[in-house]
Amino acid sequence: MIAFVSTRNKNERVSAHEAVIRGLAPDGGLYIPEKIAAHIDPADLSGMTYQQIAEKVISAVLDDYTEEELHACVTGAYDGKFDAKEIVPLTKVRDGWLMDLWHGPTSAFKDIALTILPRLLTAAYRKENRNDTISILTATSGDTGKAALSGFKDVPHTAITVFYPEIGVSAVQKKQMATSEGNNVEVIAVRGNFDDCQRMVKEANTDSEVQASLQNVTISSANSINIGRLVPQIVYYYSSYIRLLDEGVIRRGDEVNFCVPTGNFGDILAGYFAKCLGLPVRKLICASNTNNVLTDFIRTGTYSLDRPFHTTMSPSMDILISSNLERLLFMMSGCDDTLTASLMKDLKEKGSYTVSEGMKNRISEVFEGYWASEEECASVIRELWHDEHVLIDPHTSVALSAAKAYKKASGDDTPCIILSTASPYKFCKDVLASIGIENSGDEFDAMDKLHEATGTPVPENLASLREKPVRFTRVIDISEGMHVIAARMRQIAQAAGETA
Ligand SMILES: *Cc1c(COP(=O)(O)O)cnc(C)c1O
Repeated sequence: MIAFVSTRNKNERVSAHEAVIRGLAPDGGLYIPEKIAAHIDPADLSGMTYQQIAEKVISAVLDDYTEEELHACVTGAYDGKFDAKEIVPLTKVRDGWLMDLWHGPTSAFKDIALTILPRLLTAAYRKENRNDTISILTATSGDTGKAALSGFKDVPHTAITVFYPEIGVSAVQKKQMATSEGNNVEVIAVRGNFDDCQRMVKEANTDSEVQASLQNVTISSANSINIGRLVPQIVYYYSSYIRLLDEGVIRRGDEVNFCVPTGNFGDILAGYFAKCLGLPVRKLICASNTNNVLTDFIRTGTYSLDRPFHTTMSPSMDILISSNLERLLFMMSGCDDTLTASLMKDLKEKGSYTVSEGMKNRISEVFEGYWASEEECASVIRELWHDEHVLIDPHTSVALSAAKAYKKASGDDTPCIILSTASPYKFCKDVLASIGIENSGDEFDAMDKLHEATGTPVPENLASLREKPVRFTRVIDISEGMHVIAARMRQIAQAAGETA
């Protein structure tokens, strides 16, 4: 069985089950497979459905789940909740293929992992004969929150609490979260940005007040710091490659590039896992918005927080502390836990770190960093709509813009698959403005206008939002965080006691 180790201490070893239940390692590190020994040739999966590919790929990494368990998780997750039969369809555009990851229940790519994570967690929980309540703490820059609330809604033995930045998320994202249903859910806005929310959630794992409040309650995470969230994301790198193979666009062994709109580095890291498993990937293009800390890191080897935080029209990428980069540092340093821990310490204490020249070069062999300004992002949405009648959201536009810039700079004409991560209807006002249509009303007027102007379908879960009653309105200061989390943990323990 593959052991999962902490990026900060390799002696901290657990099974896949335990890693999924815990989320974060007790030393603050992230769990990562000790080694990826399996090799999966995509040509061997030719002709398979998304669900069949998912079973093959997930079982290669989370290998302590039985075939039956994984089959139940996969078929329960990827069903009629998705409004596309292929789950992840491809759309051909002039500059490559859009991999449409937003056909799930909340219209963002987070659904791919968060429809299956609660099932993986529940299966692990049963296997380990537990009787505690798993309390999911989630920080969101906009999309993870709703996808996690939807995935964990009324799942037995779990409770979920979501923290989102009061300013920054789109009006639709906010309404999606504030109207959430379910008896085990809580949504709290924070006067701060995503990094503040993520720091709060991580800190709860070691805070003494929170730890003292845990009576038969175990804290876990639905963020991409949880390995159970990352592994299901490897699947679509395979499925899209296999689709191109099956359509005869590429041949066995041909390389492709992927361009990924990046925030917390989870999605693109799953692409790197795919490469490690044997998918012929030439380059992973890391696309950022004006919060371009990752572009600078990939190009210079220095990661520095000494920069302004920008609120952009691609809010799910408004992140300066990109958690999953820690996993890449571990992998690229030959699993050096001491080095990874010391870089993370530098980041926390000095606000920056620099990797060695050798490591920087190893990273640049695979990763390219590009970023797009707000103007570029808007103009790429407009051009694609006007020239090809394909409507994309601002995150996807950042990626398409990066893919074009990379191709121009490098001359590399390897087939490029661009990850399309959200429905344009989650960001109606900005998309409408980008295609040059006036709108003075609210976000839902913009939704109507966007539909009228483009004739593209509005996802049902977004169309029905307007009439839904708001359930959650609480706003807290960052300084109250640990106190609020401790109180919520006591409430969860009490509720579990009452139903037990
Ligand atoms: C979360 C998100 C991203 C960034 O993904 P990471 O895994 O955080 O890098 C990009 N686009 C959208 C729409 C998202 O919701």
